[in-house]
Amino acid sequence: MRVISRSLLFAAIFPVCVVAQNTNPKPEPVLDVHVHAMDADFPGIAPMCPNTSKFIASDPKGKEEPFGWIKEPCTPALYPAAKGEYMKDVLAEMERLNVTAVVFGDPKSVQKWKDAAPNRVIPGTAFSAGITPGQRVPLDELRKDFTSGGFRVMGEIGLQYEGLSPSDMSVDQYFALAEELDIPVAIHMGTGGSGRANITVPKFRGSMGNPLLIEDLLARHPKLRVQVMHAGYPMIEEALTLLQANSHVYVDVAGLIWSYPIKEVNRYIERLVEGGFEDRVMFGTDQLIWPKLMAYSISIIQNADYLTTEQKRDILYNNAARFLRLDGATK
Ligand SMILES: [Zn+2]
Repeated sequence: MRVISRSLLFAAIFPVCVVAQNTNPKPEPVLDVHVHAMDADFPGIAPMCPNTSKFIASDPKGKEEPFGWIKEPCTPALYPAAKGEYMKDVLAEMERLNVTAVVFGDPKSVQKWKDAAPNRVIPGTAFSAGITPGQRVPLDELRKDFTSGGFRVMGEIGLQYEGLSPSDMSVDQYFALAEELDIPVAIHMGTGGSGRANITVPKFRGSMGNPLLIEDLLARHPKLRVQVMHAGYPMIEEALTLLQANSHVYVDVAGLIWSYPIKEVNRYIERLVEGGFEDRVMFGTDQLIWPKLMAYSISIIQNADYLTTEQKRDILYNNAARFLRLDGATK
């Protein structure tokens, strides 16, 4: 959707007036469709370099690191929050950057975020109980979360980490519930290799992140609205094929936008847009650990010279507003 915002129009007509009055204008709104309700401390974690340039090999004979990203100096390095400050810091960043976010996690953790920032948090939760693969939240409990608990999105659904396809029949009842209640679902697809999945997450399967694995699920639930998290990165052909076949499917660029080499990241987003899907690419951070990650990720979209101003607004706000059916339409 291409809309000239009122403020832009105003600026075009009364430029001098705007400059004089708005010395520190509020940034245009951003919707981040992929934030995690973390509130843990991360003592001793080294600063993180986003868009690391490569993965390095390792040898099973020696001690192998849990991540394969090369360690290299960078600007800016992103620092974890001080002890006990993470949620507060991220919410302050959201206020500063004018961000509203879909925040995922177990209901209790998400509620804490919602209570702290009721106007900036859209709550999301899913059916994994704890971190042990295969443990599920009872269906009735999840139904309550969405009918009376105020939850708006079912996610993050991380079946790929269990080596399962999103079309696996063992979880079909949850997707049937989402279709029945008209709740969008957000499914992790694609990323997660981290260069060492073979060592740290033995059930993870890259192949289970193939976006086309969602097709059978969509055939069984034709009204289901799906957010393909991480845009199925790096499987661009499969992501485009799914988008071409199913108009209820959107993608988010969370995680991938800061995790992989910058040239590759921009090429991937450009392919999605040039493939004709500028209306279905949503901004997301995968916000965790480092409070400045959100601002950094937004800057990647804002600095993308292959996107028009309208396309940037669509990715940063309008597409998600349409997907989530937020009031207020486009901004
Ligand atoms: Zn994910």
